[in-house]
Amino acid sequence: MSDLLSLSRQAVADLRGVGPALAARLAQLQIYSIADLLLHLPRSYEDRRSVRPIVSLRAGELALVEGEVLSQRQLSGRRGGMELILRDEGGQLRLRFFHLRPSPWNAPGSRLRVYGEVRAGSALEMLHPEIDKAESALGLRPIYPLVEGLRQDSLRRLMAQALLRLDEDDSHRLDGWSRSAALRYLHQPDADADLALLLQARHPAQLRLIVEELAAQQISLLQHKQQMQQRPAWRLQGDQRLEQALQEQMGFVLTAAQRRVIGEIMHDLGRGQALQRLVQGDVGCGKTAVAACVCAQALQAGWQVALMAPTDLLAEQLYQKLSAWLSPLGYTPAFLSGRTPARARKTLLAELADGSRGLVVGTHALFQADLTFARLGLVIIDEQHRFGVSQRLALRDKAPAAYEAHLLVMTATPIPRTLAMSCYGDLDCSVIDELPPGRRPITTVVMSQNRRPELMQRLRANCQQGRQAYWVCTLIEASEALQAQAAEDCHAELCAALPELRIGLVHGRQSGETKTSVMQAFAAAELDLLVATTVIEVGVDVANATLMIIENPERLGLAQLHQLRGRVGRGRQDSYCVLLYGDPIGARGRQRLALLRQSQDGFFLAEQDLLLRGPGEFFGTRQAGLVQLRLADLQRDAELMSAAQHLATQWLRAAGPQLEACRLLWQGERSRYARA
Ligand code: ADP
Ligand code: MG
Repeated sequence: MSDLLSLSRQAVADLRGVGPALAARLAQLQIYSIADLLLHLPRSYEDRRSVRPIVSLRAGELALVEGEVLSQRQLSGRRGGMELILRDEGGQLRLRFFHLRPSPWNAPGSRLRVYGEVRAGSALEMLHPEIDKAESALGLRPIYPLVEGLRQDSLRRLMAQALLRLDEDDSHRLDGWSRSAALRYLHQPDADADLALLLQARHPAQLRLIVEELAAQQISLLQHKQQMQQRPAWRLQGDQRLEQALQEQMGFVLTAAQRRVIGEIMHDLGRGQALQRLVQGDVGCGKTAVAACVCAQALQAGWQVALMAPTDLLAEQLYQKLSAWLSPLGYTPAFLSGRTPARARKTLLAELADGSRGLVVGTHALFQADLTFARLGLVIIDEQHRFGVSQRLALRDKAPAAYEAHLLVMTATPIPRTLAMSCYGDLDCSVIDELPPGRRPITTVVMSQNRRPELMQRLRANCQQGRQAYWVCTLIEASEALQAQAAEDCHAELCAALPELRIGLVHGRQSGETKTSVMQAFAAAELDLLVATTVIEVGVDVANATLMIIENPERLGLAQLHQLRGRVGRGRQDSYCVLLYGDPIGARGRQRLALLRQSQDGFFLAEQDLLLRGPGEFFGTRQAGLVQLRLADLQRDAELMSAAQHLATQWLRAAGPQLEACRLLWQGERSRYARA
């Protein structure tokens, strides 16, 4: 008998019956140790607690029945098979099997117990039910996540063996449940267990483990933060004159919110500990200017700075902004993306390695292993939620071994609190809660496709006044190819309808050069109208664009629509956003779009979006960038988050052995924070 932590050091192959083949299948499920096995929890349960009288069965139910085989008949036809009639005291049930041959156990007169779904054929029947050995115990039967070649029974048998080795440990009771009691219960629930609670993952035994898992996640983020704080980092003294010079280049005065956030960052940079800060700010609040100020200070101090954005388009925009502002001060940035030509890349790599180049702006190409820096002091990541936590850590690892690079993360997607704790628990947070002055609110209009002709008039009028417009095509979960096609069709249609306008097109399937040149033409006002897919979602910044039309907005989340809308309203003119919905969208859809009409508050819209669509959707790809969780579901379990946080601080403070146990068990090999 051992506790779970000791079992995490015992290979699952120690269990009887686990040979190399089975071990390989278990490994596919990330099960290496006996503890991993025990933490592999059922995803569902079957109710096999009682044998049901046949007369009580209803179509659609899953049920266990037992009776005597009354008759047996071979079925003809392509699939062959056999039909048995099963009889109990009160009734008869037809069982159909494919590929079954007569044998003693299914011969008339033998007793049989089966489990399956009851269907209404010409009489009640079960199709290919599972044969339940009459000697197997009645109870709730756990159903585990499987991989090909692994069977529920084999997993259940292994689990029973593993449970025999598991000690009762009373040391970490929460709400009366110890960790091992909870595990034991979930693998082998009592006959009187509340099945409904179990199926909703709301049974106290499940809550016990979910809270611990969430706490473990918090603990590793907080520990990571503490670790970082202990490692030395370069100190930076801000220079007022430099900020002044930069503002002259930018041609505007920083807002109070921008200055406050710059102050918070500079304060951190002066401590000799690594900066770990998240800057949140709604679209258009001027995060780039904040980044530029911090960059300039770091460059003046002789550090190298890497600035990263999630797409080519964004990285390019960022590069141009920084070039315009910083080059006159003597800091000329370099650009690196996946499509930088090999020769240029090689030169740049050499310059970064010997320190002769101070500032590089780029995409995830900055993560590449052969990229090294002589003295990387600051990493800035724009639009963080597109990157994973692990990538954030990887880039930072490029700093010289003795020093930690300062890390600044910027995001325009306000992260609802519950999710923020999960993604950014290791970061301090600053909020830019003010837009630059003179911004006019964006008027949002919800309009049906039927009014397209009217809209064309408006578009024409807008552009004839020398203003520019975006037309955004959306597609749900479609491939990039389909999106591109939709945008191309839309472009052709608009060109035909509005021949007097200069109309450009940008989508994800174009070459990088094409995209860049179209964007440049739009920025230089050589185009009146830009037809685009959602590639322009973030970062694109053209102040003269005052009208945005979003086709089929019902296909996107509120947060994403808000991001898109943020592309207009950047200048001093009145701006408009037209949400051009397609088919009848229903009351719910209309209500959702109405939220956008009413609010321009990104935080409010993000919360609403999370409520309506869940975190997977919220982040685009499912939980991108979040640590994998075994049990917890960030949306379903949001209300457990504060309990988890409480537990995490308590265990961190106590610094007892349970701290390590909890972290190892729940994150173990999966932990992406496990760095020396
Ligand atoms: P975001 O926070 O969405 O990244 P940007 O950094 O792209 O916003 O800034 C939006 C626009 O506002 C840019 O054109 C930028 O130059 C401008 N801007 C930023 N700060 C100010 C300011 N303090 N006053 C006026 N304009 C500003
Ligand atoms: Mg930005």
